[in-house]
Amino acid sequence: MKNIAIIGAGLSGLVAARQLEHTANVTIFEKSKGVGGRIATRRSGPYSFDHGAQFFTPKTKLFKDFLQPFILEGHVKRWDGNFAEIINRAITLKRKWDDSPPHYVGAPSMNSFAKQVSVGVNIRHNILIKSVVRKDGLWQLSDSNEKLLGEYDWVIVSTPPYQALQLLPQFSSLGSELVTRKMQSCFSLMLGFSGDLSLPFDAALPLGEDISWVSVNSSKPDRGQAYCLLIHSTNDWADRHFNDDHNVVLEHLIEESSNILDRDLKSAAHKTLHGWRFANIVRQEGKDYFLDATHNLALCGDWYIKGRVEAAFTSGYKVGQAIETILSD
Ligand SMILES: Cc1cc2nc3c(=O)[nH]c(=O)nc-3n(C[C@H](O)[C@H](O)[C@H](O)COP(=O)(O)OP(=O)(O)OC[C@H]3O[C@@H](n4cnc5c(N)ncnc54)[C@H](O)[C@@H]3O)c2cc1C
Repeated sequence: MKNIAIIGAGLSGLVAARQLEHTANVTIFEKSKGVGGRIATRRSGPYSFDHGAQFFTPKTKLFKDFLQPFILEGHVKRWDGNFAEIINRAITLKRKWDDSPPHYVGAPSMNSFAKQVSVGVNIRHNILIKSVVRKDGLWQLSDSNEKLLGEYDWVIVSTPPYQALQLLPQFSSLGSELVTRKMQSCFSLMLGFSGDLSLPFDAALPLGEDISWVSVNSSKPDRGQAYCLLIHSTNDWADRHFNDDHNVVLEHLIEESSNILDRDLKSAAHKTLHGWRFANIVRQEGKDYFLDATHNLALCGDWYIKGRVEAAFTSGYKVGQAIETILSD
């Protein structure tokens, strides 16, 4: 069997690995200690925050079929939240999420869904791949200490494009593939409270503000009792302020959110901020992945389609399927 290295254990890398598991020896290299990438959860004491992806609304049959076993086993559940739209600090629309379309989350956390997807996948954690070099018809991977991590017939890079560019700066068949895809940033503000804030919604979309999303994370299924708010800045505001002092960013987002929600959020018992440098990308045209069958190189990730969980799934699934077909011929 051929040896395949995948860089990144986000959903796209995990799904590509699962697709190829019967055709090749697959190893994923992941820089962090966990899996899931931007499908992420952070815990602190009684508080739990899904500080990356919030939910997913499956549209394609492919993704719906993939999710079915996870739904049946209770690792993915519906979040029938009360949703609101806020304009000029007033609620202008309210509706309860239902079948059209159902909103799904990982249970008991977004990240636990990614963990379930990773079951049976061979992953080497805490390894930051620094170099990917093609030599004598094989790919050589090295880490930050220049330690050689083996030779592979194929390599699939499933990182965001900027990080892929660091790994493959000279690779000519890629052309402008990596430089034209611009990902935007986002700040995630995590606030934990000792009591209920009695907000009139579980999730809200404030329009025309520096924040674009507020959710009562504890209203998602199986999250426990501690009251948690998760707030996202807009991508544009995060792009402009990404290098600002993060304490200043945190204070600004708390003040802005307090005004919008008409609650004193400074009183939170727990306050943290996470900055996502490569959070999101607008809808893209063209292929769902990159594949160079001459050099056995592939790239996948949400950024080939749109900044969505389903896009990451689709890209990883299709690149895995394409390589599977080549290897089976
Ligand atoms: C704040 C935020 C909110 C979001 N909200 C939603 C939402 O509500 N609904 C929705 O559908 N989507 C949402 N998304 C988007 C969704 O999270 C992504 O589309 C999806 O998770 C991307 O998966 P991926 O596999 O393409 O990339 P990633 O999840 O980014 O995976 C890439 C992996 O590569 C690893 N890596 C990078 N460089 C290296 C290296 N050199 N060596 C080793 N490992 C490396 C990273 O650690 C990471 O694990 C949100 C994203 C963010 C950030």
